[in-house]
Amino acid sequence: MEATVPANDSSPAVDRPQVELIQDVFDRQLETALSWRQSTAKERVARVFRLRDAVIAHRESLYEAAMKDFGKPRAEVDLGEIIPIVHAAKDFSKNLAKWMKPLKVGSTASTLGSSARVQYQPRGRCLVIAPWNFPVNLGFVPLMTAIAAGNTVILKPSEMAPHMSAWMSKVIADCFPTHEVAVFEGAVETSTALLELPFDHCFFTGSSAVGKRVMEAASKHLTSVTLELGGKSPTIVDASADIKAAAENIVWGKLVNNGQICVSPDHVFVHASVRDEFIRYAVAAIRERFGASEQAQRASPDLARVVNERHTGRVYGLIEDAKAHGATVICGGTASIDDCFVAPTLLTDLPPDAAIMEEEVFGPVMPVIEYQDINEVITKINQGPKPLALYVFSKNRDFTHEVVQRTSSGGVCINHVLMQFNHGKLPFGGVNNSGLGGSYHGVWGFKCFSHERAVMKQHVLGMQLFYPPYTPLIHKVLAWFERLTR
Ligand code: NAD
Repeated sequence: MEATVPANDSSPAVDRPQVELIQDVFDRQLETALSWRQSTAKERVARVFRLRDAVIAHRESLYEAAMKDFGKPRAEVDLGEIIPIVHAAKDFSKNLAKWMKPLKVGSTASTLGSSARVQYQPRGRCLVIAPWNFPVNLGFVPLMTAIAAGNTVILKPSEMAPHMSAWMSKVIADCFPTHEVAVFEGAVETSTALLELPFDHCFFTGSSAVGKRVMEAASKHLTSVTLELGGKSPTIVDASADIKAAAENIVWGKLVNNGQICVSPDHVFVHASVRDEFIRYAVAAIRERFGASEQAQRASPDLARVVNERHTGRVYGLIEDAKAHGATVICGGTASIDDCFVAPTLLTDLPPDAAIMEEEVFGPVMPVIEYQDINEVITKINQGPKPLALYVFSKNRDFTHEVVQRTSSGGVCINHVLMQFNHGKLPFGGVNNSGLGGSYHGVWGFKCFSHERAVMKQHVLGMQLFYPPYTPLIHKVLAWFERLTR
């Protein structure tokens, strides 16, 4: 289950002019999309670089916007927002021409005398709807991928990071005319107005609950969708793991962006024999990095805030609910709602009916659950919705192999967290509840924003032998052919 937040009634209703503007831009993008079908790799890479260069040119104002939105530290803007865009642009410049080449396939027994290829054709007019947690990365990397694949784009950033949303709108306006790429800022109403239109593809990143609504709206026009969703990503720490390294790494992954990452290690299953050692190192890592007291942690420039008061209340509510159900607070457990601050928190002794055992945490709170037998953990994971990420810390190859073989998730990372997202050459995406409709990053993204079109050319026509009337000879030849190709 993803993070649930009460409806935000304060979202401004979309006004008539925005609906009209959206329609106008959408209509004008058609001509561009049709002409971009024939665009070359060189032309597309030039567009990609235009965006990359604009991001770099405006980076100082991005740091300011990110700080205003939720105290995102500068290093995390570099790591999580700017560097992925720079890397994606480089990947496209190096590989796009190769990826765009039609893929030749051989003929089969029934298509002798023909040649065939798969043509990667731009989908056309694409809609990208982005979340607030890495607004620039999760808005601009899909957008850049879409233009690399030859599409026009309308991007709708999240209203919950308003400064970064405005920054993105300005950057795009500086480097693209709206008939090529446009940004419409706004909340649900803006998404709803956009989803009324017959886009050729919709790429949505956000919660599973909203993903379902997006898919439903897109179905009206049979617009294809890619849904990059969330969920609870489990982490398993086996007794054979380097416990200190595991605890330090998991704490890092949990607290980057203050736990507000779709692939954050949500909760940790730790083998009972190493539980206390794990907790000791995890608490030490939190204190060393952000300070021992709540006051020091609040003053830390390296810990982002929760995005808003509503979410702070939600995350704190998960702690209070867990406590009420008998959980033990190992460290943290406090919050200051007006300051959007929740102290980094470790919880143990969690009963299965605590809300935190069901809901995506999406904040700086880590349930630590001890286990005796890995079968219990695998059963628990397989009983729930398929997660976006699964992490395993172990030195035992048979153990990691077994966990990977017997579970399903969007991706897996062994002895590290988050980095499967940053890899660049791996597909990134979920499975069922955590996402569907294609992965992205690298060639996977190029394919996601392309239609794989089958093109066959017949050189020697042999089929006339099989035209009706279906004589006994034809039946004999077909029977022979079936035996031959069996
Ligand atoms: P969200 O689903 O609330 O919002 C995402 C986007 O959808 C925003 O732009 C929002 O304005 C828009 N939106 C909201 N309601 C809508 C509706 N009814 N119809 C159409 N659009 C609507 O998600 P969020 O709070 O921005 O992000 C957090 C969630 O996203 C978490 O569940 C997290 O795991 C997930 N997430 C997934 C990925 C991924 O790559 N898989 C990345 C980041 C976040």
